[in-house]
Amino acid sequence: MHPKLIGLEETFSESVLAKINDAMLDQYGIELWLKRDDLLHPVISGNKWRKLKYSLNHALALDAETVISMGGAYSNHLHALAYIGNITGLKTIGFIRGEQPETLTPTLTDMQNWGMELRFISRSDYRILRQYKDWFDLPGFKRGQYWLPEGGAQTLALKGVGELVREIEIPYDIACVSCGTGTTLAGIVDAIPAHISVMGFAALKNAGFLLNDVHQLLSRHCNNWRINLDYHFGGFAKTNIELLSFINDFELRTLIPLEPVYTGKMMYALYDLIRKHHFRRGQRIIAIHTGGLQGKRGWKDCQNRN
Ligand SMILES: *Cc1c(COP(=O)(O)O)cnc(C)c1O
Repeated sequence: MHPKLIGLEETFSESVLAKINDAMLDQYGIELWLKRDDLLHPVISGNKWRKLKYSLNHALALDAETVISMGGAYSNHLHALAYIGNITGLKTIGFIRGEQPETLTPTLTDMQNWGMELRFISRSDYRILRQYKDWFDLPGFKRGQYWLPEGGAQTLALKGVGELVREIEIPYDIACVSCGTGTTLAGIVDAIPAHISVMGFAALKNAGFLLNDVHQLLSRHCNNWRINLDYHFGGFAKTNIELLSFINDFELRTLIPLEPVYTGKMMYALYDLIRKHHFRRGQRIIAIHTGGLQGKRGWKDCQNRN
């Protein structure tokens, strides 16, 4: 790995595996563990480092000076990228979906303070950017630039996510993860033994496209994974009272923080499916806490996050 990334990696903690103690789980005979990737780093959000690590290593190996990517006004991906850019000296540019808000979100403020150049673009231009997948794909590409597709969704991301799987040292039956682009899920499927099932939970509405995207990312055919599309709560970053009060109760009982965009929806779904006898007694589930807690800041002031 590039020395600049080795230095950064030294600021990471080891990931913790925490058993959830909950009478409800005992009642159904289910053991639920959380892999706390949210605790990996004080600033960089859980799975974002996993996904960025080898892509940025590639960028540095190519002597890239500028890394360009895209995301929303609360993007955990751009937030992590801006921070890493600041530490490693890589210049960063972020295409942000939608008009520039009157006051920047806490996420955008951090990104700007870390030196990321923010370029606000229309939703239709944003959609167009989604089609560029390879690092040299961006129209007007110049030497020294490196393009990262939305959410860091590229094959190199799988390698970093695989490291998460290899850190799990206890036997288990099912791994669960929230899905945005499905890249983290693909990395888990790629690295996990075939007898373990992987369940993804889509954070977006109409996310059927994820099945194809994950197939595209995987280097070989695997049939031990599924994506549940039922717990989107109306769409990306949409919530309701039921979800928010579930998160609140969970946090009070376990002292483990969740956010409502990804991990909160996954945990809600898991609890609901356990109650509906979706799992067999005696099964051990490991859910990945992918982090994302920075995006929770300023949540209350925002009427329309999408
Ligand atoms: C980005 C993100 C995800 C989704 O990851 P994908 O690889 O895009 O599926 C899940 N959880 C959190 C907290 C995230 O920030």
